[in-house]
Amino acid sequence: MVITMDSIDSVKTIDPTFWKSNRLASFDNWPFQSDCTCTPERMAAAGFVLIGDKDEPDLVGCFICGKQLDEWDSNDNPWSEHVKHVPSCAYVELGKQNELDCTVAELFTLLKTFVKKYLRRKLKLAIHEYKKEVSKLTGQRPHNNQKKIRKSRQISTSRSAT
Ligand SMILES: [Zn+2]
Repeated sequence: MVITMDSIDSVKTIDPTFWKSNRLASFDNWPFQSDCTCTPERMAAAGFVLIGDKDEPDLVGCFICGKQLDEWDSNDNPWSEHVKHVPSCAYVELGKQNELDCTVAELFTLLKTFVKKYLRRKLKLAIHEYKKEVSKLTGQRPHNNQKKIRKSRQISTSRSAT
């Protein structure tokens, strides 16, 4: 693949959670701080972004595989939890918890995985919106093939889209 100025510019517009410092910023209200194993720094380094709300304040998701985990204990090791739940995650397989430790080739491979996930999500949303519009025009209820995803440790969100 040829790296052009366009592809470099697209990195700037990509979801900021690709970068560890932005993932870390999501943990401002994280309940586990300095005396814990799962500090904000370690959570971000393990690839997690805080996505919870007031009902689920400790719900996090991986920026690459999308795995969602909650019910954290103060002595949980974020990296070990990530490895245990999704050993096949591209970020886990890379084994580097800071993008500054990555080679350009490794970072680019990670970015490709990230962009694929991002585009899949946008495509699913576009298809969903399209079906809604069609149903409005035809008066039929949209057929929904998507299963509701429960937010818990037991449910994998890394199922692949086709
Ligand atoms: Zn992951």
